[in-house]
Amino acid sequence: MAKKTNTKPTPGIAYLVGAGPGDPGLITVRGRELIQSADTIVYDYLADKQLLNLASDDAELIYVGKQAGKHTMPQDDINELLVKLVTQGKCVVRLKGGDPFIFGRGGEEALALAQNNLPFEIVPGVTAGAAVPAYAGIPVTHRGMATNLTFITGHEDPTKDESQINWNALANIGGTLVFYMGVKNLPNITKQLIDNGLTIDTPAAIIANGTKPNQVSVTGTLNDIAHIAKKANIAPPAIIVIGQVASLKQQLKWYENKPLLGKKIAITRARAQASSLAENLISLGAEVIEFPTIKIEPPINTEPLEVAIVDIHNYDWIVFTSINGVDAFFETLYELGLDIRRISSQQFCAIGPATADRLKDHGIIADLVPEKFIAESIADAFLAKGGLKDKNVLLPRADIARPTLVELLEAMDACVTNIQAYRTVPDTGNKDLLIDLLQSDSLDWITFSSSSTVKNFFDVIAPELLKGKKVQIASIGPITSKTIKEYGINQFAEANEYTLDGVIDIICAN
Ligand code: SAH
Repeated sequence: MAKKTNTKPTPGIAYLVGAGPGDPGLITVRGRELIQSADTIVYDYLADKQLLNLASDDAELIYVGKQAGKHTMPQDDINELLVKLVTQGKCVVRLKGGDPFIFGRGGEEALALAQNNLPFEIVPGVTAGAAVPAYAGIPVTHRGMATNLTFITGHEDPTKDESQINWNALANIGGTLVFYMGVKNLPNITKQLIDNGLTIDTPAAIIANGTKPNQVSVTGTLNDIAHIAKKANIAPPAIIVIGQVASLKQQLKWYENKPLLGKKIAITRARAQASSLAENLISLGAEVIEFPTIKIEPPINTEPLEVAIVDIHNYDWIVFTSINGVDAFFETLYELGLDIRRISSQQFCAIGPATADRLKDHGIIADLVPEKFIAESIADAFLAKGGLKDKNVLLPRADIARPTLVELLEAMDACVTNIQAYRTVPDTGNKDLLIDLLQSDSLDWITFSSSSTVKNFFDVIAPELLKGKKVQIASIGPITSKTIKEYGINQFAEANEYTLDGVIDIICAN
């Protein structure tokens, strides 16, 4: 046996990645890819939790966050930690708020790595100084208003004698002044600028929690912004903008106009289905807490679906009632080494437009998309297509699907093969967060998109937790509503159109 030699491990690499200012969508493509493949992620408090969810399950997450006054880990220790991890051969993502090299101390971390001859790369990020004003409707440069832009740290107390900031220059440079970390010093900052000659009626704005659902902003002038900010309880993190451009907010404000901005909404679809609802709610400004009360798994016995697909020539119609059914069907088809040519002579029915869309993703345009989304209306749709007498119908569905549909189709003299294509399994992810939000009365809505999501939800969360709280409930339709009532809840909003879009409409209308 070869003798073990004491070789040093090959060094890994550190990526100093800008996470953007808050909205997780503002990470760069490269930043996201690196998070997904990192061994270790070293992050601080400005990094959005959703970005950490992108990390692989076995990635190590190390929190080194710094909040004003509460230093969790001194900068030197962070530098040392990075050096240690890279020396051990780790691929490290050092995730930093905004851009790593703009008031982010990324330069110090890179220097520590460079001095130890360790490899590193910088992945720039969207900096708060540009993005936060943008989300408030303030372009930091604007033709005819601001031809130059200055980023300044507001951390330094301007009343201190040894100020490194040239206030006289700042007051006279013109253009836009953007202060980071300046909330506490705002009265001193405005005073210094006024004392050094900047006109008191210069427009000014301060924006806290920019790009996030709890974004708030106020505007005023150099003279009164400190007072206005104090009255509005503006707290860090916030960006201060001083200059003519701040006056454009009135006309260009967009993010803060979103109908659901700041609303916290729990959505209870299965994880695999939830994203479109989540995406749409987020685009309307809501903060979404996914409570994947059910997750989708393959059936315990996969054979019936495989056999049905192999014998697909026996069927006239294939009826899908959900996106999951479509996914399960096609996954099995592909796993069998087949493709859509195998199903070229069947007719397809998709219940609901989302199911039809997923079918289209697989190259099939549904022959029938019943307009209403309850089983009873499907029969009418088939009748309009000439009925189902003696037709063979394949129904790949969930394990818990209601029997009504089978009965209805059989009543039309169809020969129905009802196959379990997937299982819905309870999943309690996010449970503690949801209980916290309910207890602190900070949840605005819970959406239910099927009876099973209601049951699974109340299996985990006691209905009593909702009592006397502001939280409202949105139900996708009458069948789901009936189940909600079984839990003693009689006050809820029911969608007019029984789709996820209908759920969104009813939330916006309330
Ligand atoms: N490297 C970061 C800045 C870190 S300094 C960047 O490039 O954006 C921290 C300061 O950034 C905060 O005090 C605040 O002034 C600003 N900031 C960061 N995120 C912010 C947000 N979401 N809203 C408002 N200001 C923010």
